Amino acid sequence: MFDIKYIYEAESVEDALRALSSDPSSQVISGGTDVLIRVREGKDAGCGLVSIHNIPELKGIGMEADGTIIIKPATSFSHITNHPLIKKHLNMLGEAVDQVGGPQVRNTATIGGNICNGATSADSASTMCTLNAVVVLQGPQGVRRVPVTEFYTGPGRTVRRQNEVCVAFEIAREDYEGWAGRYIKYGKRKAMEIATLGCAVRVKLSADRKIIEDVRLAYGVAAPTPVRCLNAENA
Ligand SMILES: Cc1cc2nc3c(=O)[nH]c(=O)nc-3n(C[C@H](O)[C@H](O)[C@H](O)COP(=O)(O)OP(=O)(O)OC[C@H]3O[C@@H](n4cnc5c(N)ncnc54)[C@H](O)[C@@H]3O)c2cc1C
Repeated sequence: MFDIKYIYEAESVEDALRALSSDPSSQVISGGTDVLIRVREGKDAGCGLVSIHNIPELKGIGMEADGTIIIKPATSFSHITNHPLIKKHLNMLGEAVDQVGGPQVRNTATIGGNICNGATSADSASTMCTLNAVVVLQGPQGVRRVPVTEFYTGPGRTVRRQNEVCVAFEIAREDYEGWAGRYIKYGKRKAMEIATLGCAVRVKLSADRKIIEDVRLAYGVAAPTPVRCLNAENA
């Protein structure tokens, strides 16, 4: 048994925002792989849950006319890894999230939950930092866009307000075209292991592939929040 006050199944983003605003102690649940563990451990016992799990507009991956890739937050990791747009343009992200937990977790856990839980160990976070991803938040006052590098404020904390829902992640064409990279997860075991250190590195090569024109480097777990290493990049 889980000690929860209620679970409300929202039908749309507006419906979820209404439910969150009407109970300031409520929280979003998406795949529930973090939330339900916190409830069971007693950390969030007795809270109200607003589920976004069945809102179609929060799932899927697409590309806009200008090449911006849009990843909806309730998209599961296995869906991300296997999506043709990710395989073609953001293979590094697909490989990074394929290192989360085991198959059952990857079929349930979402990228929105992985970023919004504020965990420095989140396997998608450092890669999203090297992609200059933008977190799109919708609240009662409207929509705001926050670069993922400015999203985190401390361990388990982000700039997201209680009554805001993450509705998308945006990755601009100039942040993936011509770039390649890799996410390396260090842990004691190969499977079902939270990262002891996560390192994401991306490079942009010249047309003749002889010169590194640009480099981006980010770590998870090295600091209380995921961090971009701008000094190292500039050096
Ligand atoms: C066995 C196991 C192994 C795991 N292994 C790993 C691992 O190797 N690497 C890793 O990074 N993680 C791991 N996790 C943690 C977890 O699976 C991930 O963090 C997952 O991505 C969370 O997604 P979710 O949809 O389940 O989030 P939920 O549990 O539903 O939510 C997590 C948090 O995000 C908020 N939230 C979710 N979606 C939104 C949204 N759209 N807008 C606003 N707020 C939102 C919730 O309110 C909550 O605070 C593991 C978990 C388990 C149970």
